Amino acid sequence: MLDSPGGPPTGMCHVGQRSQSIILDGEPPSRKEVGHGMARSTSRFPPRPLRRLLIAWAMSAATATEVESRATELLAAAVNSISPNDAARHVAALADDAFEGREGGSRGGRAAAAYIIEQIETLGFEPAGDGGSYLQSFGAGHRNILAMLPGSDPELAREIVIVGAHYDHVGYGKAGNSFGPFGFVHNGADDNASGVAGVIEVMESLVLLGERPRRTILVAFWDGEEQGLLGSRHFVRVRPAAVAGRPIAFCLNLDMIGRLRNERLIVYGARTGVELRSAIVAANNAPGTGASLDLSFDWDVLEDSDHHPFIMGRIPTMMLHTGLHDQYHRPSDDVNLVNFVGIAPVVRLTLALAVGMADAPQRPVFRAAALAESNATKRRLETRPPGGSSRGRWGIVTRPDPGEPAAPLVVNVAHGSPAQVGGLRAGDRLVAVDGHTFGDQTGMVALLTAAGDECRVEVERRGRLVELEFRAGGR
Ligand SMILES: [Zn+2]
Repeated sequence: MLDSPGGPPTGMCHVGQRSQSIILDGEPPSRKEVGHGMARSTSRFPPRPLRRLLIAWAMSAATATEVESRATELLAAAVNSISPNDAARHVAALADDAFEGREGGSRGGRAAAAYIIEQIETLGFEPAGDGGSYLQSFGAGHRNILAMLPGSDPELAREIVIVGAHYDHVGYGKAGNSFGPFGFVHNGADDNASGVAGVIEVMESLVLLGERPRRTILVAFWDGEEQGLLGSRHFVRVRPAAVAGRPIAFCLNLDMIGRLRNERLIVYGARTGVELRSAIVAANNAPGTGASLDLSFDWDVLEDSDHHPFIMGRIPTMMLHTGLHDQYHRPSDDVNLVNFVGIAPVVRLTLALAVGMADAPQRPVFRAAALAESNATKRRLETRPPGGSSRGRWGIVTRPDPGEPAAPLVVNVAHGSPAQVGGLRAGDRLVAVDGHTFGDQTGMVALLTAAGDECRVEVERRGRLVELEFRAGGR
């Protein structure tokens, strides 16, 4: 992760929409008025296979087909290959003093690159760098490392899903890049040997999938991140022949995933594509393989890691991060403090998300509005605006979210209402009613209105799916 970022976007905190209306769930009509047709989701994301699995799970697997159970089996085999021991081995290798802090363009950086390429060759990924090699050279002896798993779909294979992490760190540390003490090897075990280990683990799992994902998966190990996002910036500008001119459907950046605490994972960039949040939630909750982490969505778009150049390139992009700590950019960011057990669920989530994105029928639509959104926007949206009141049977006030049309945001729950008694909270997002997903808030309202005296509701709460039951009349 890059210290001293360029600073947050100034003075912008709009969601890119005019003022959003509050919708109140209505009185119950006769049940005949609402057909089942409207329960069908019209949204193109999250990735359909994962979403199907998710829905199957929500319906007690009653509708799971053979295809889906096979997919689950294969994914489970791949997921089972992800182990804390493997992560520990890679982090320990990369954070060894022998690599002298892996500064971009240095001999230690080159040695670290050799280690990474050795792993790639063992796994049989194809070169995606310059002239049939794994390297993309640029700048003052800098090298990105690029490898790919070609997609299985004749059409979609042209499109690319990127999973990347920077492998450089700050070398021996100096005033501009370290909080000191200077002159000692900065091993960067968390920043970002952890992310590199995560990408290598994802590669190992992809090989075990049995069936290759439909889109091409490009794994990228960026150089020069600590010197100003040099490697990712270069790649966005200039792409090697193997991947030049091909659409990038989605990019995922792992930066500092080695300090998971209280299962909390910070997710950046989920607003940069329509329904990216739904996609990562589906991956997080996939039956059997889900990481079930506590996802903390951060809406600020900062120039502090390799996700940023991709977002500026109008590519839907997310970054996963387990948070800063006292050893950040100091020699003490070392192997002994890494939570290896905690890397495994982050890698599981990365795998499920990458495969889901690679298999989805449509690629996500970039949201330029995300650039004008921030955590301040988030706070404002999640708070009940003045003048709003709730009524109706369940006592729920939601607002539509253009970034997540199929997951309206709960902004208020009336005191003593069936929804409150049932456990609904402001900040939750409704994703299904009585087992049916919906395309937008109107569909949600129709389902809530049509429901009987008892209503089963699926909500997303900090990345986890929770099932609640409402009883009309508060019984
Ligand atoms: Zn850093």
